[in-house]
Amino acid sequence: MTTVYLDNNATTRTDPRVVAAMLPCFTDMFGNPSSPHAFGQGVAEAVRGARRRVRALLGARHDQEILFVSGGTEADNTALLSAVATAPEGRREIITSAVEHPAILATLVHLERSCGVRVHLIGVDGRGRLDLDAFYAALGPRTALVSVMWANNETGTLFPVGDLARAAHAAGALFHTDAVQAAGRIPVDLSTTEIDFLSLSGHKLHGPKGIGVLFVRKGIPFRPLILGGHQERGRRAGTENVAAIVGLGVAAEIAVMGMAGEGASIASKRDRLERALTALVPGCQVNGDTAARLPNTLNLAFDCVDGEALQSHLGRAGIAVSTGAACASGSSEPSHVLKAMALPVWALMGAIRLSLSRETTDAEIDRVIALLPPIVARLREMSPLWNDRRRLYPTVRTA
Ligand code: PLP
Repeated sequence: MTTVYLDNNATTRTDPRVVAAMLPCFTDMFGNPSSPHAFGQGVAEAVRGARRRVRALLGARHDQEILFVSGGTEADNTALLSAVATAPEGRREIITSAVEHPAILATLVHLERSCGVRVHLIGVDGRGRLDLDAFYAALGPRTALVSVMWANNETGTLFPVGDLARAAHAAGALFHTDAVQAAGRIPVDLSTTEIDFLSLSGHKLHGPKGIGVLFVRKGIPFRPLILGGHQERGRRAGTENVAAIVGLGVAAEIAVMGMAGEGASIASKRDRLERALTALVPGCQVNGDTAARLPNTLNLAFDCVDGEALQSHLGRAGIAVSTGAACASGSSEPSHVLKAMALPVWALMGAIRLSLSRETTDAEIDRVIALLPPIVARLREMSPLWNDRRRLYPTVRTA
């Protein structure tokens, strides 16, 4: 039985064209890009090519604005620590959202404890949208940095980062966005925004793991996180992960080529899945902002169903989904994202995330539509709560 992979927000399959481009880096192209001889210089040229491709994906103006790092987590850490280290006197506050990835939230806890930075955690509404009144109330002359994600990893909800960046600049603050889930999936054009820092990760766009990018706008003060050699113009020490950089470059180029058609095609499959499941299964709701969402993400909650049990039954039926970031990390705590949305308990506990990619087929969507409703019906029959709740709903139908 082949498995239907609907966990692309956790990671994507490395594109075979990416793998093919990386392989020579383990054989003939083994040189160190810092070496002046031919072995090094050929490899340095490959790194330059990858930088140009990532620049094109992001619409950045200058190659030197693209800093290769080890992934989304390092990019996020570097942006926050650098902004605090270089902030002018009197700017000791950071504004962020309550639904950021732990790569942001844990770094901010560290900065609060170690540097006395004050963090404003801005809440979201029931659809995961930022509380703009609270955001503008927190923004002021003491703000050093605003960091708000482009797209949420659990619900796919998109944030108005262009507007937020403009507001941050008007208040004299810098702006960072974690675009790990957005880059390669929806158009990102940094030439038309005032974003100062942007994080992306190779493995979310069919590139390799262990590679990412921090975009640092030219002229923005910067303090490296990793110290040592002069690589990356002295901004990130350590011999470059050449194979992964080359792979990310190819992944970025493929994403640019597919951007126009793929988003719509993925969204139409996701929407068909959403329409079918919400029609077949009563007591099921979509978590997130359906009006402004990543094209590939569907977060669904089922009343009287435990999300982890549903994930495990789907797994046995050959369908790989996620219950959300917290559960994926081995904790059974409900996700901090869904909690911040103040959803009813059943929608927190009964949520699963289905995330598609350009590789998802119509036949796979059909299989999920056929298999998921009867699994939900079986799990509900086992739930002690279901006897009281079932009166509220018509019976689960099957496709
Ligand atoms: N930020 C977001 C929104 C993510 O979804 C992830 C990974 O899931 C990260 C950051 C971390 O990226 P990486 O796995 O490359 O460290």
